[in-house]
Amino acid sequence: MIPYGRQDISQADIDAVVDVLRSDFLTQGPMVPRFEQAVASHVGARHALAVNSATSALHIACLALDLGPGDWLWTSPVTFVASANCGLYCGARVDFVDIDPKTFNLCPEALARKLEQAEREGRLPKIVVPVHLCGQPCDMAAIHALATRYGFKVIEDASHAIGGRYRDEFIGNCRYSDITVFSFHPVKIITTAEGGMALTNDDELARRMALLRSHGITRDPAQMTREPDGPWYYQQIDLGLNYRMTELQAALGVSQMTRLDTFVARRHALARRYDSLLAGLPLSTPWQHPDSYSGLHLYVIRLDLPRLDGRTHREVFEALRAAGIGVNLHYIPVHTQPYYQGLGFRAGDFPESERYYKEAISLPMYQGLTEADQDTVIRTLRHALGIY
Ligand SMILES: *Cc1c(COP(=O)(O)O)cnc(C)c1O
Repeated sequence: MIPYGRQDISQADIDAVVDVLRSDFLTQGPMVPRFEQAVASHVGARHALAVNSATSALHIACLALDLGPGDWLWTSPVTFVASANCGLYCGARVDFVDIDPKTFNLCPEALARKLEQAEREGRLPKIVVPVHLCGQPCDMAAIHALATRYGFKVIEDASHAIGGRYRDEFIGNCRYSDITVFSFHPVKIITTAEGGMALTNDDELARRMALLRSHGITRDPAQMTREPDGPWYYQQIDLGLNYRMTELQAALGVSQMTRLDTFVARRHALARRYDSLLAGLPLSTPWQHPDSYSGLHLYVIRLDLPRLDGRTHREVFEALRAAGIGVNLHYIPVHTQPYYQGLGFRAGDFPESERYYKEAISLPMYQGLTEADQDTVIRTLRHALGIY
């Protein structure tokens, strides 16, 4: 099976993790700050908080921005459920903004229209979570301008996008957002097995997220309500969680970071090769915005169904899987999930997202994919499309 995504683990990665196992600290040691520093300085953010998943990072980001009951969080329907669930964790309500069919990202014009209506109805969102789907950045300048006008906060879900750039600056520098979140799940661009990170340029948000990831507890006398009772003393000054990243994970992250740029460059070489090998087939290859350099977590094609001679999306997908190509579908629109249907969403609410879902297939894309693997993917896909 050629999977759709796979981690790339080197001997140096293994050695880094083993070194931690032999060291004094398996958690709460020097590697987590080192990993945070490596990512923050690479992308150009002031603060980075490593946590045990991007889901946790989204949760503490929402908490730090004071999202709560009575508030709204908006995101794209075409994303992993975590981008929306973080709002529900905080007791807020969630709504969606349909995608732009060209970029597959939250459409800024649809956002502007929805905001106008929400303002009239007095239900403006407190937080909008743009998702850089496949690694391609959202139109952050437009979203930032709307955030300024309507007063909402922005959390970039950049789970797909570390190593990518928007207008010549690295995603994660939070120029157009309050907080940016990365995921280090093994299918993502770099991995810590499980892991995530929240980045911000705001000192107060960083301070709050640092508390929230570790029980709301501080050992910093400057943050305490009174003088410490003694050297053992700590205070709980907020209601936090245990979302800490381990030292093993952070060591893997530090080691992976040294190869981030080559990973993304390799993904670009593979994407260019896919683009040319897929030209002329009854499908569209992903459009890349000229303002951006995608992290290219995913390479998503959309089938041109009227040109498939009656073959269905599902048949093409199943034929690929049956032939050992581990294609996937990112994503089932969140509002069509039973849990969200239970909250009142209906099929038909976000038509561009639903159309995308009927056509999209994620082809294998990861740094270890060989050209021979890629040729196998293309050959199998042509076969599945009935083109020889
Ligand atoms: C993977 C992913 C997440 C969740 O990441 P975890 O680290 O697995 O919690 C959130 N949002 C998007 C868009 C993702 O792809």
